[in-house]
Amino acid sequence: MTKHVLVLFHKDYRLLDHPALSEASKQGIVVPLYIDEYSTASRSKTYERMAINTLQATIAQLGGTLLIRSGNPLTIIKNIIHDLHIAAIYTHERYDPSGRHLMKKMEEELSIPVFFLQGRLLTTPGTIMTNQETPYKVFTSFWKKVQQTSILPPQKKPTHMEWFHGDVDKPFKDHGLTYFQPGEQQALKKWRQFLYDNIVDYETYRDFPAIDATSMLSAYVANGEISVRLLWYEAIEVLRIDDIEANDKHTHKKKSIETFLKQLVWREFAYHQLYFFPEIIQQPLQAKFRQFEWLPTDSSLFTQWKEGQTGYPIVDAGMRELKQTGYMHNRVRMITASFLVKHLLIHWREGQDYFEKQLIDHDIANNTMGWQWVAGTGFDASPFFRIFHPVKQAEKFDSDGTYMKKWVPELRDLETTYIAKPWEAPSHILAHAHIQLGIDYPYPIVEHNTARERALLAFDKLKTKKKE
Ligand SMILES: Cc1cc2nc3c(=O)[nH]c(=O)nc-3n(C[C@H](O)[C@H](O)[C@H](O)COP(=O)(O)OP(=O)(O)OC[C@H]3O[C@@H](n4cnc5c(N)ncnc54)[C@H](O)[C@@H]3O)c2cc1C
Repeated sequence: MTKHVLVLFHKDYRLLDHPALSEASKQGIVVPLYIDEYSTASRSKTYERMAINTLQATIAQLGGTLLIRSGNPLTIIKNIIHDLHIAAIYTHERYDPSGRHLMKKMEEELSIPVFFLQGRLLTTPGTIMTNQETPYKVFTSFWKKVQQTSILPPQKKPTHMEWFHGDVDKPFKDHGLTYFQPGEQQALKKWRQFLYDNIVDYETYRDFPAIDATSMLSAYVANGEISVRLLWYEAIEVLRIDDIEANDKHTHKKKSIETFLKQLVWREFAYHQLYFFPEIIQQPLQAKFRQFEWLPTDSSLFTQWKEGQTGYPIVDAGMRELKQTGYMHNRVRMITASFLVKHLLIHWREGQDYFEKQLIDHDIANNTMGWQWVAGTGFDASPFFRIFHPVKQAEKFDSDGTYMKKWVPELRDLETTYIAKPWEAPSHILAHAHIQLGIDYPYPIVEHNTARERALLAFDKLKTKKKE
């Protein structure tokens, strides 16, 4: 077997359940390639490069050489086809606009066969459709349909593989990210620990940011270091085994596993939306919101939001967690995003861009859907008029203030009663906690009721415009 076949990696940095790799390994000597496509500075890009270093080391242990290139993907691929006499290319389908553009160009311009396999999702976009063959706009119906669909089981690591061996490319500079340790092995370890030890409490505690109740797999999933089909099948297998010994604890676990699977399907829903409506990255999915009157971005308010200096401890805790770690808990993503779009009336795209730069787990489909969901502009979104109250959210989901005190340490001595609303604390209590409002910690940058009314007014105007 002397034929060289190229495997182009893109956000599928693993060997297990890698359909492109499995197929290629049957055809010839595998030449693995990673192209560093764009170099906008972001934490997710830094993480991705660390994941590539890990993949490079894994492939090297198996006797292969991962080619690492940066620049125009098509030119790079053409050069490699020429230099290494590549007979065919195996890669996974992409659903982001630049990926789809590249797929089209590869099909049009390359002289060798190119195989695009499904390796990023549970199902291929276009297979989960309504009876009218239209894309789903309501999550519950989409979820039901996914459950009725047969999802392909994950594939094993290819056992007999011949790897291309050549000059070793310099790994990326290590920027010392510590929050997520990249790599397929780390991802599998984290997943199985969560599945076997912690998933039972997922349903009960997943909304509480001070509790480690979620999987923390997002950076791995976003980079394809673990496949969602593997997550799906292993979770279902636990459900199946547990069904044998049904009792209360297992009923609870079953509910938790179902809720976890639902999150994977939210991701699926996000990708299906991106596939059918790629304009959602920039445009509201609900056309009526194109006329919504966002306020011109006030750079000082926007900076206070980014820096965690809004005067609302739950918002500030989330924004500081993001800035310090590159991660933020889902409940707090919803609260902080809502505060930006509804309390400050700043366009959701500003927040989407900021999250894109800061989130280690940035995922174009999930981030876009997340922002459009919060802004009320997406499909099956939280309605615009439902405005999160940052104090009530904090009191409900961080009632003893553990999360707020962790990320806003200047409030750590404040009585729990006031932790979500320090401006209501009597002066002697503030003094006792060594807090001088306006100096140690800001007053709220907007007053909740005023901001709420302003947002609802803007929404009402939209309704009038629609009638005109
Ligand atoms: C404004 C906003 C922006 C977001 N941006 C991103 C993003 O860039 N990247 C990202 O992966 N998630 C994003 N999310 C979704 C969610 O917050 C994260 O996936 C989750 O917090 C990751 O933590 P976890 O892995 O512990 O999640 P778990 O609760 O353990 O969920 C398991 C996996 O399911 C998927 N998932 C969970 N919740 C959602 C969701 N609401 N939508 C889509 N997929 C989900 C993720 O892949 C996650 O890793 C965003 C949500 C909001 C509200």
